[in-house]
Amino acid sequence: MEENTIMLLKKNIIKIEKNNKENKSIVNFWEGGELDLFSINKIPHKYSNTKVPLYRFFFNNNNCSNFIDYEENIITRNNQYNITYKCINCNSIHKVTLNNILRKINRNIINCRICKEYEELKRNNQCNYMLNYHSSKNINKNNDNNIIIKQISLLDKLNNDKIKFHEYDSDFKDNYFKRNMHNNEF
Ligand SMILES: [Zn+2]
Repeated sequence: MEENTIMLLKKNIIKIEKNNKENKSIVNFWEGGELDLFSINKIPHKYSNTKVPLYRFFFNNNNCSNFIDYEENIITRNNQYNITYKCINCNSIHKVTLNNILRKINRNIINCRICKEYEELKRNNQCNYMLNYHSSKNINKNNDNNIIIKQISLLDKLNNDKIKFHEYDSDFKDNYFKRNMHNNEF
């Protein structure tokens, strides 16, 4: 995650809780200005094998302004912290473990669960819309073509019949009209 994004995320932290390891009860919590006791920073290179910066939460244990410079202030993976924060993308509020949010920071995942579901829904709807649009377009096209073809063929048939009829001799026509009605008799 970029530094600016991390800053935004840090501003959106509402509450940090520390739980009791055994019974999960809250032993301490920090809100508002107290959250300044926490920081999110790159850890020294000796901890990272890759070039990708590795971020960790720091807690100001020793009450120093430069507390991020002290290794002992790094919150290890084995911790009992929960974080309540507002998603920087969709503003929905979540309570997650500190490790969960740290994983997102290190993997550059900005979207929360709600964002992700919304994106998927949008993508599915877009997909369905495209499918429906194309299939309905095809149906309409086919229907129109069919109707036109049918109309042409019927007209052709009538005209052909008329021509053929006129080609018959008058005796045939007279006989025909004895058995059938004339157009103007309808
Ligand atoms: Zn979100």
